[in-house]
Amino acid sequence: MGTRYGCECGVFGLYEPGQPAATLTYFGLYALQHRGQESAGIAVSDGDSVTVVKDMGLVTQAFDEQRLTPLEGHLAIGHVRYSTTGTSNWRNAQPMFRSVGDAGFALAHNGNLANTLELAAQLGKFPGMTEDASSGDSSSDSDLMAELFAGAYPPEPRSDGRDLEHAVLRVLPRLEGAFSLVLMDEAHLVAVRDPHGFRPLVLGRTDGGWVVASETSALDIVGAHFVREVEPGEMIAIDATGLRSQRFAEARPRLCLFEFVYLARPDSILYGQNVHAARQRMGEELARQAPVDADMVMPVPESGVPAAQGFARVAGIPYGDGFVKNRYVGRTFIQPSQNMRGEGVRLKLNPIVENIKGKRLVVVDDSIVRATTSRRIVQMLREAGAAEVHLRISSAPYRWPCFYGLDTGRRSELIAASLEVGEILEYIGADSLAYLELDRLLAATGASPDGFCTACMSGEYPTSLPTSESESLEGAVMLPDPVRYLQPEAVEA
Ligand code: SF4
Repeated sequence: MGTRYGCECGVFGLYEPGQPAATLTYFGLYALQHRGQESAGIAVSDGDSVTVVKDMGLVTQAFDEQRLTPLEGHLAIGHVRYSTTGTSNWRNAQPMFRSVGDAGFALAHNGNLANTLELAAQLGKFPGMTEDASSGDSSSDSDLMAELFAGAYPPEPRSDGRDLEHAVLRVLPRLEGAFSLVLMDEAHLVAVRDPHGFRPLVLGRTDGGWVVASETSALDIVGAHFVREVEPGEMIAIDATGLRSQRFAEARPRLCLFEFVYLARPDSILYGQNVHAARQRMGEELARQAPVDADMVMPVPESGVPAAQGFARVAGIPYGDGFVKNRYVGRTFIQPSQNMRGEGVRLKLNPIVENIKGKRLVVVDDSIVRATTSRRIVQMLREAGAAEVHLRISSAPYRWPCFYGLDTGRRSELIAASLEVGEILEYIGADSLAYLELDRLLAATGASPDGFCTACMSGEYPTSLPTSESESLEGAVMLPDPVRYLQPEAVEA
């Protein structure tokens, strides 16, 4: 249903001597715009110093030719950010910069640490940080990581200049949760993916350099070809001597299943699978699992489109459009109240009465979080004359909060946490409602089902959770295996 999630971000990094890294990063961020529209930023180095420019808004609003041209250098990282209302300010925009002695580094983060409060408590309060941390604001954990990395720098600069990667390696074993990171100092690009690999991060190659990005779609736009994923538990460093890879923890892959369902761009490749094709398979499975007699299958645009196509194909029911989407209205999720979210839907989606009137409709969407939008959609379709409205959801019920970078609010705000499917149907007011079963959803990805985090649908969290959170998650199942970190000696260069 488009867009109800927060705190999902995109990261990009490029090292290519002789090329305008900031401009290429701008294009990379443009391809990752779907991962965050609140702010955009670029850090660039010409080999001597790091400059950071960031601003609120879309990439095209934060940067223009005038701002990009002076950003000279062959090394850059970038970030696009999305967060909930209340944390939207310039200070939270990334990349963030930390001075260390005469030098410094910039950091861009996608994900959420699961042990932010514990780390903060161990270190004492950082100014202005604790308040954000307790609200689960991802900006605070990025801040915390930057502080930890800065604190791990050696007292004297290393003779090989690799202070940043060594500082990062010292801190990584203390971090829990989701972190796909790109960092840079004046001469090095560093990419890190947490041991579970919750958020995607890929490595690409250009003619004369290297690229790291949240998704493969950002490689294509800068003419890079896909080399491989950054492995869970891997740190990559790139500089004038080439690329170095080090494993800092045993890989225990748990890619966010919602990357496949909704978050990633349809043309991206995850686990070797095209996301668009996987979403169509989800729709096909849904048609097999929960068939219904109808006259037309329609998507909730745009994220419901591929699943609706798959549903229509298997069900043998014509596919059609029932809504026009206004592309220029912001995310409904940023409206502060339930009431206003409903209004946001009306601004964003308008029914095509001629296509709807008198028809029995199958309406396909990717997920339901609070159900406010679904209820409003059903109401709009009925007002437009639909004879029947059958809602089909291409994911399992979203029952548990996410602590790994997707902000859907607290458990009490998730409708499937407290209501059964029949009760949700009653609230939404459709004629029938079915969610895709988790096993079928996993199978539809085309990847190994063991490689996913499904916590928001299953309650099985791959990591331990902050104490206050685990107490409130009665019935949640914690997987027994903690990630095993490698001994620091094993990763020393
Ligand atoms: Fe993704 Fe859900 Fe796991 Fe969060 S809890 S990482 S949204 S699968």
